[in-house]
Amino acid sequence: MNNQAASIIANKLEVLSKSKFRSSFHLRKKELAYLNDKGYNVIKDHAKDFILNKLAPANPLNDGAQTPMKNHPVFIAQHATATCCRSCLAKWHHIPKGRELTSNEQNYIVALIMEWLKRENKRAVNK
Ligand SMILES: [Zn+2]
Repeated sequence: MNNQAASIIANKLEVLSKSKFRSSFHLRKKELAYLNDKGYNVIKDHAKDFILNKLAPANPLNDGAQTPMKNHPVFIAQHATATCCRSCLAKWHHIPKGRELTSNEQNYIVALIMEWLKRENKRAVNK
């Protein structure tokens, strides 16, 4: 990730942190353990997969309900970063509904999720 992308992501996380709803999502013990057990590279592959299959299509299946509220750290990160469905993507990230996500958009979403997970992990360690 270059500096510009890193600062876009940092700014977006700052905006999201001001939302009471978005900032209410945190990893539970089980999800933290899974994250640290698998490691960031594997979790990143899972994130890419979820985004590609459940979010990237022009009309994702069950859009609005495709991201569970628990059990995988990426699911929690998606709710925390408003990348859980196409409506949230449109509202928070200005990515229009009704068309396929570009690979740049998918990379941005994955990078945002991974940065949230890293911060959340640090937060849990320091708690
Ligand atoms: Zn959503």
